[in-house]
Amino acid sequence: MALTLFTRRRASVEPPAVEPKPWPETGETWMPEGVTVVERYYNLGNAVVLVHHSGGYHVVSCLGCHYEATRVEAVYSSMLLLGQAAELANTHAAGCRALPREIPARPDDQAARDLLHTLVLDMRKRAEGEHLYLYQLDTQRLVLQRTNDWIVRELKSLADTEPEVLTVSVDAWGTSFYLPRLAKS
Ligand SMILES: [Zn+2]
Repeated sequence: MALTLFTRRRASVEPPAVEPKPWPETGETWMPEGVTVVERYYNLGNAVVLVHHSGGYHVVSCLGCHYEATRVEAVYSSMLLLGQAAELANTHAAGCRALPREIPARPDDQAARDLLHTLVLDMRKRAEGEHLYLYQLDTQRLVLQRTNDWIVRELKSLADTEPEVLTVSVDAWGTSFYLPRLAKS
């Protein structure tokens, strides 16, 4: 009998559930300026793989590793339509083990302007005497985080101040930019 005095009722309190700490930012809700995110996938490390566009073609960007795709590999010249981008994103997500990396912070105007300037100078080296199209900046849009209007405005201003780097023409078709041929040194 006495034994029952010492028999405690088993506490019915469950041990506190261990809540996994969420990653500070995995990209599930990230809406960078100037970019429309149309699909998101999880990779094996819980990083988000985005399908996004800036009004033109689609881009696949992994927020774990730095994988980015703008073209169908088998057809190098073919830019991505939504279905193709979704397929690439899904395939990448299924094989990528990278953990979520830090989401790039939105640069201030001067930093975004400097980056754009650098990108244009770099394009000029690669593509002498050619048009510059906004989609050529597609893979930089998650870093730039600016609208098309902002970019066009800044490109016009760059063309005004450095016509040897970039020229602009406005006609019935719209605004177009041109990278002049580099002078042979
Ligand atoms: Zn990846």
